[in-house]
Amino acid sequence: MSEKRREDANRLKPIATTKDWKLLYFQHGRPGLEEGISFKGLCSHCEIRDICSIVKPKTGIWRCEYYQAKGRSKTNLYQNIIKQLNKAEEVVHFDKDICEILAGTMNELVVHFPVRMDDGRVKMLTGYRVQHNNALGPFKGGLRFHPMVDIDEVRALATLMTWKTALVNIPFGGAKGGIQLDPADFSIEEIEKITRRFTYALGNNIGPEYDIPAPDVNTNPQIMAWILDTYMSTMTPTERNRCIHVVTGKPLEAGGSQGRNKATGQGIVFLIEKWAQDHGFNLSGATYIVQGFGNVGSWAARLMKQHGSTLIAVEDVTGAIGKKEGIDPDDLTEYVKNHGGVFGYPKAEPITHETFFCTRADIFIPAALENQITADTAEILKVRLVAEGANGPTEPEGDKVLLKRNIDVIPDILCNAGGVIVSYFEWLQNKRSEFWEMDEIDSKLRKIIISAYERVRAAAEKYKVDMRTAAQIIAISRLEMVYKERGIFP
Ligand code: NAD
Repeated sequence: MSEKRREDANRLKPIATTKDWKLLYFQHGRPGLEEGISFKGLCSHCEIRDICSIVKPKTGIWRCEYYQAKGRSKTNLYQNIIKQLNKAEEVVHFDKDICEILAGTMNELVVHFPVRMDDGRVKMLTGYRVQHNNALGPFKGGLRFHPMVDIDEVRALATLMTWKTALVNIPFGGAKGGIQLDPADFSIEEIEKITRRFTYALGNNIGPEYDIPAPDVNTNPQIMAWILDTYMSTMTPTERNRCIHVVTGKPLEAGGSQGRNKATGQGIVFLIEKWAQDHGFNLSGATYIVQGFGNVGSWAARLMKQHGSTLIAVEDVTGAIGKKEGIDPDDLTEYVKNHGGVFGYPKAEPITHETFFCTRADIFIPAALENQITADTAEILKVRLVAEGANGPTEPEGDKVLLKRNIDVIPDILCNAGGVIVSYFEWLQNKRSEFWEMDEIDSKLRKIIISAYERVRAAAEKYKVDMRTAAQIIAISRLEMVYKERGIFP
């Protein structure tokens, strides 16, 4: 915020204070805040920008729409992924035809569908499913509900899934899907109707042996259960119980697996442990910061606590908080469950986006959205390790800065693969009508993810490249081998 703006902000009386939002200083539009009205103002919460649009959606939490979108340069995730592919290609000189195949997607489905809202009106929604590649097995990838979801984002995330499953050696391809919406604008009943109608619109474009969705941003086990139920309802009675593995990340009672909820966070923490071992670094007494306190971020934070590490700053879509002496991740998880975000957590101080990124800590776990570590934020980070829980959190320019500053990175396609690995276990258990215990899940997950880490480290040494390029080389090499062995039909 400019000095002039800051002075103005200090001089003006706040025009509104709500339970969830601190102060709104400028008012260019209508006086006061009423439900459903957005207006322009300066939000002290995201003081990085001058103009915010503040709305109160159905959840009853006031929020700043700009803050939600901040830091995301929408156009480049797919381009970033292709740049990364080219970087690996320069080192290993993959077959040009295979790079050509992998640079594009196989199938892209966009569906527009009507849903009746609680007030009786009909709303048209847009959903996506992109199937990037299935050379190694059925398409696999999450479903995201977010206002910024579009075809480019889904394409990019589907491509990352192909690299991820190839890297960790599980028999799946890559896909991703989503609906462009902000869940906060809808009631639970509306979300259920939207989910079911979207599943129906996807029809046979998903299937237990063809394309298997899972949770991602703003989707959860309950949503997976609705997808399963809708999909099953379209089958004949004899087929119904044969398609329980059409989605993973289901609630336990609906055929889910032990450990799937914590799987992505658990995978991250297994890898951080391994990194610490390799670097003679003691996790007990280490400090860490986490961006995103949803499924991935909150689980990673809670599991780090078990190593005696201290969480000192957290940022999510509602704001950022910090405390040098430590924030209890279990207590914060309870708070977030009840309040919808970290904002207003009484046992820590509110901090700005910039202060969050400047916090000196040993480890940073980005577990929110893509494109958060830019050249600018990479420059101000004061950590030794970035363990990428989110997909695509680092832009290529940010990556260069991290490399230059000798900040280690465990790249996304390795670091957050725990989710898809345990999804694979769930899929296998469903197919075999088995139920595995947590110990078995954890030990199998550890074995797969650590062996992938070791292969990535060995490739990084062999090719003298960073961990991200090494991971990419392994993934593409595996896909290249399969294409070469099978040939191109006809
Ligand atoms: P989630 O919806 O449970 O949580 C998302 C978190 O990000 C929330 O705390 C939200 O407040 C925060 N957030 C959203 N926008 C933000 C912003 N602009 N600034 C700061 N924080 C913001 O989602 P999740 O399942 O935990 O997924 C998080 C990331 O991990 C995504 O990139 C997702 O693709 C990736 N991922 C998830 C899984 C999984 O199993 N769920 C697996 C692999 C990768």
